[in-house]
Amino acid sequence: MLISGSAASWLRQFGFRVLDFFLPRLCLFCGGVVAEEAKAAVCPDCEGKIEWVESPVCPCCGLMFPVREGEDRLCGSCQTEPPPFARARAAAVYEGPVAKAVTRFKFGRQMAYLPVMQHWLQVPRCAELAADADLLVPVPLHPRRVQSRGFNQALLLARAFPEAEVGRETLARVRYTVPQVGLNPKERRDNVRRAFAVPRPEEVQNKKILLVDDLYTTGATVRECARVLRRAGARRVEVLTVARVKHE
Ligand SMILES: [Zn+2]
Ligand SMILES: [Zn+2]
Repeated sequence: MLISGSAASWLRQFGFRVLDFFLPRLCLFCGGVVAEEAKAAVCPDCEGKIEWVESPVCPCCGLMFPVREGEDRLCGSCQTEPPPFARARAAAVYEGPVAKAVTRFKFGRQMAYLPVMQHWLQVPRCAELAADADLLVPVPLHPRRVQSRGFNQALLLARAFPEAEVGRETLARVRYTVPQVGLNPKERRDNVRRAFAVPRPEEVQNKKILLVDDLYTTGATVRECARVLRRAGARRVEVLTVARVKHE
C-alpha cells in the first residue's frame, strides 16, 4: 500500500478526484480499506452489521416479525385494514450502517452513500419488484423541499434500475407538509392527507406501479401515494424502500 487510509480520505475530501484511480477504496462507515473487487464501498465488518429483511415477513406490508420463526403470514394490521398497495419490500432494517447511509445521504447530502444504497436495492427480493413493474414512481418532495435539499433522494434511488422507466413527475406533491419525523401514526396519516396528486392520470392507467422511497416507517406516506395512484387508474401499486423501521 502506497498511501494510508486516512491520507487517502483527506486527499479525497479536498477534491483530489484524479487520485481516486490510485488510492485504496475506503469503507464509508469505518474508513477501513475495501477490497478492490467489492461492489460497494462497505468493508466486510460493516456489511456484517447490516440486518437484511428476511422471512418470516408479512407478504403484504413487509413487516419483519420479531419472533424469527414460522412462515410468511399476513400481519394483524394488513388483515384488519388492507393497505392500498399490493406489497411493500425493503432491502434492510433501518439500523447500523443502513440508518447512517439513509440519514447522511438525505440530511447530510453526502452523495457517496447513493451508490451503496442503490447497490443494496439490487438484492433479488427488491430487484424482483422493479423488474415486475411498468413504471417506477419516486415519492415526490414538495418543490420547496427539493430546493432546500437540492435533490429528491427517492428519484436518485429509483435510478438503481437503469432499465426501468421512471416517472419523475407522475406523482406531484401538491401540499407542503411538515416532516413526518416525530409524529405519531395518526398525525402522520393526517399530515400527508391530500398531499399528492396525479397530474396526468393517463400515465398510470392500467399500469403496475412501483413506488420508490428511502425509508418505510409507518407506511403513511406510501399508503397515501398508493391510494391516489389507484384512484387515478393504476392497476397495481407496490412499494420499494432501502430501509424499513423494525417494529418490536
Ligand atoms: Zn467498514
Ligand atoms: Zn402487514
